Amino acid sequence: MRKEEKALIVIFGGTGDLAQRKLYPSLFNLYKRGFLKDNFAVIGTARRPWSDDYYREIIINAVGDAEDINGQATDFASHFYYQSHNVNDTEHYATLKQLADKLDDKYQIGGNRVFYLAMSPSFFGTIAAHLKSQNLKTTTGYNRVIVEKPFGHDYESAMVLNEEIAQAFPEEEVYRIDHYLGKEMVQNIPAIRFGNNIFNALWNNRYISNIQVTLSESLGVEERGGYYDTAGALRDMIQNHTLQIVSLLTMSAPVSFTDTDIRNAKINALKSLRVYKPEEVAQNFVRGQYGPGSDKPGYRQEDMVDADSMTETFVAGKLEVNTMDMAGVPIYVRTGKRMREKATRVDVVFKQVPNNVFGEGDNTLRHDVLHIMIDPEPKLSLQLNSKTIGHSYEYDTNSLNLNYSVPAEQRANIPEAYEKLILDVLQGKASNFASSKELEYSWKFIDSVRQAWDKNIDDMIFPNYSCGSMGPKAADALLEKDGNHWEF
Ligand code: NAP
Repeated sequence: MRKEEKALIVIFGGTGDLAQRKLYPSLFNLYKRGFLKDNFAVIGTARRPWSDDYYREIIINAVGDAEDINGQATDFASHFYYQSHNVNDTEHYATLKQLADKLDDKYQIGGNRVFYLAMSPSFFGTIAAHLKSQNLKTTTGYNRVIVEKPFGHDYESAMVLNEEIAQAFPEEEVYRIDHYLGKEMVQNIPAIRFGNNIFNALWNNRYISNIQVTLSESLGVEERGGYYDTAGALRDMIQNHTLQIVSLLTMSAPVSFTDTDIRNAKINALKSLRVYKPEEVAQNFVRGQYGPGSDKPGYRQEDMVDADSMTETFVAGKLEVNTMDMAGVPIYVRTGKRMREKATRVDVVFKQVPNNVFGEGDNTLRHDVLHIMIDPEPKLSLQLNSKTIGHSYEYDTNSLNLNYSVPAEQRANIPEAYEKLILDVLQGKASNFASSKELEYSWKFIDSVRQAWDKNIDDMIFPNYSCGSMGPKAADALLEKDGNHWEF
């Protein structure tokens, strides 16, 4: 029997894209699975003057159940209330508090509150301050705040944001969302590493040659050109998702699988990232920008993008995590837009056997490689050398495959990243959220690259990769100079 979570969820940005595309469907799934039942209510707030009835129509449409044959979506939507509210206006928080207290009574919620800040981060500080000063936080239940990315645009702004939120919410109440941490195969990384002695024993610089992390997208910037042109791939994809995956791949075993121990292990991994001197950045990082394809615009031709933009849409880098186990293992990361295909994957390349007893020939032994496919199809694949069937002693590479894909008709049973992360918040589980220390170390690393790049912006010639490719040639050369190559 599932335990029902009692909570009042206040969504700032309740009319926005994220709320409609991700948050409402995720909450509906939690409702259908019984995690949310009778004792919950949601207040959506934004400036638009919507009525409760109109808001509930939006909710029913958003959860993709407009026909609502069994009335489930209507029941679910009846827990939703709309409050027109400008977050800069102090008086509106008093109205919000009245509604929150009334709903707390009506649904017997017991004072548990989740505040979801699904708005531009420029508002986070003011919302947090008002929630505290206007007594929206309760003393009878828990108070938790979920903040969306981007969390700052550099170390300093991230620390200011941290500080502003910390004035109202202590660290244990803050859940910084990174939806990659809700993905099934990302969550599987610690299970694979620490649940199997074969990998536990081999996961170090004695046996691993290099690790590759790729987050490639086939789309361009679409309608996000305005934001993207001020951010770039380094901030948009490397600082958060990529470094979070790197921390899971390189952290030492946590003492136990608790929030504090997992976070400490990740913090130590990120703290051990070698921060490059400006002159080292050029040797270890490559940036790119896509040009036009036969039927696709180049980055500079996209809507809301500067015609001379020097913003990078591609990054490849070589990272060093200087812990006792991982020092000397190059961690290559790569992300970009308009690449050959959409994929998120990790390739762990193991060192070859120290002596090839089969002798050299055409048929040389290959590296063993563990492929952790995160998107689009979750899959684990271990590439091994083995003998081919028959009289002769030929060997070839073959793979052991573990497929996590489920048939289309069962997909609804697999929780999506946002759904899992929202449930984590309701249950007070913080390990799949970035802590302030993780942010601190990841931003320090990113700033060192950004600052070196900004100084040498005139040396760059953009665009430098074509639509549908795997990025600029220099990204291949980055590995070739170490005697390595991209597995994907
Ligand atoms: P959006 O569609 O532009 O929504 C912004 C929301 O803020 C709207 O509900 C808007 O409603 C409200 N708002 C703006 N100014 C306000 C004010 N002064 N007072 C009260 N409400 C105000 O943005 P979004 O795409 O949902 O993104 C929200 C956050 O999530 C951003 O931080 C974004 O980076 C992050 N995020 C979004 C996605 C995604 O897929 N969309 C993915 C990852 C992260 P009114 O105009 O009615 O006031």
